[in-house]
Amino acid sequence: MAEQGNLFILSAPSGAGKSSLISALLKQDSSRVMQLSVSHTTRQPRPGEVDGQHYHFVTVEQFEQSVSEGAFYEYAKVFDNYYGTSVQAIDEQLAKGIDVFLDIDWQGAQQVRKKKPDVTSIFIAPPSKQELERRLTNRGQDSAEVIAGRMAKAQAECSHYDEFDYIIVNDDFDQALIDFTTIVNNQRLTREQQTRKHAELFKDLVSE
Ligand code: 5GP
Repeated sequence: MAEQGNLFILSAPSGAGKSSLISALLKQDSSRVMQLSVSHTTRQPRPGEVDGQHYHFVTVEQFEQSVSEGAFYEYAKVFDNYYGTSVQAIDEQLAKGIDVFLDIDWQGAQQVRKKKPDVTSIFIAPPSKQELERRLTNRGQDSAEVIAGRMAKAQAECSHYDEFDYIIVNDDFDQALIDFTTIVNNQRLTREQQTRKHAELFKDLVSE
C-alpha cells in the first residue's frame, strides 16, 4: 500500500505563535513532504495576503454553495467570517504521502476528529495571558476593538485545550519548534505507519 500522509490539526488562540511555528517547520522540510492546508474564507485579505496562498478568498455565496455541495471537511464561523477546509485538496495531498497541517479553530478541530479519527491534534498555548495580550497589541495590524475581541476569543479557544492530543507551550520559540518537530516525527514512527512504509521489509524479516 502506498504511504499515506499524516493529518495534523493545529489550534491556538491568535498570538500564540502558531503561524510562525508552522512556517519554521515547513522551512526545514526540504523534501516537501509537508504542506499547510489553504483554507477558504469569506474574510477580507489583510495587506500582503495572497489569494490561493494564504487563503482562498471567496464570497459568502460561494462559501455557502461549497457547504451545500459537501466540499468541506469542516467549516466554522470565526470572528464573524466563515472558514473551511476543502475535502478534495486534503485527500489529494494525503494520498500522495504528504503530511498535511490544518490551521483551524477548536470548532473545526471537533468536526475533523469525527470524520478523521486518526488525526493528530496539537494545541499551542501562550506562556501567559499577559504575554498573549502584549503579542496581540504589538502586531499593529488591528484596531483596539479587534484586539479586545481577540482576547475574548482567545479565552474561548483556550477553554478547549484538553480536547487535543498534544500541547505545546510557546514560551521559548526554539524549544517550541523542537517540541513540534518531535510530535510530527513521532507520528511517522508509529507501528502502523512503519508497517505500511516497510511492508516488504517486514514480510522478509518474518519469513522463514
Ligand atoms: P485569521 O483570520 O487570523 O487568519 O484566522 C482566524 C482564525 O480562524 C484562526 O484561529 C484560524 O485557526 C482559524 N481558521 C483558519 N482557517 C480555518 C478553517 O479552515 N477552519 C476553521 N474551523 N478555522 C480556521
